[in-house]
Amino acid sequence: MGADCLFCKIIAGEIPAQIRYEDAQLVVFADINPQAPHHFLIVPKKHIRTTLDLTPADNELIGHVYQVAGKLAVDLGIADEGFRVVNNCNEAGGQSVWHIHFHLLGGRNMTWPPG
Ligand code: 5GP
Ligand code: ZN
Repeated sequence: MGADCLFCKIIAGEIPAQIRYEDAQLVVFADINPQAPHHFLIVPKKHIRTTLDLTPADNELIGHVYQVAGKLAVDLGIADEGFRVVNNCNEAGGQSVWHIHFHLLGGRNMTWPPG
């Protein structure tokens, strides 16, 4: 567990969250400040600080993240209309929690370029 890591605490059940899905490798919970009608965070249980800290040993994990994202989009009924999976890395990329996570956003039309 990362010291004083918010998402490690949610994964450990020490801080409550609206858990939508959990398996051995990751947890999915609702974002506390949703930016779309559907906004979930797909969070690997392994404490990885940023995208830059991924290693080849994490390749299967990241593939699994995208498998779960697609299945969740189907479950939510937003797969066909479209959705977005976002990973923010470091300050200029918009990262504010230093435990890798992937935003699943849907239920509205996304804009491009993003803000
Ligand atoms: P980032 O800015 O690092 O890409 O995304 C962090 C996300 O975590 C933000 O969208 C923010 O709303 C969400 N967040 C921050 N604190 C909490 C919390 O305590 N609980 C939940 N469920 N989400 C949080
Ligand atoms: Zn952590």
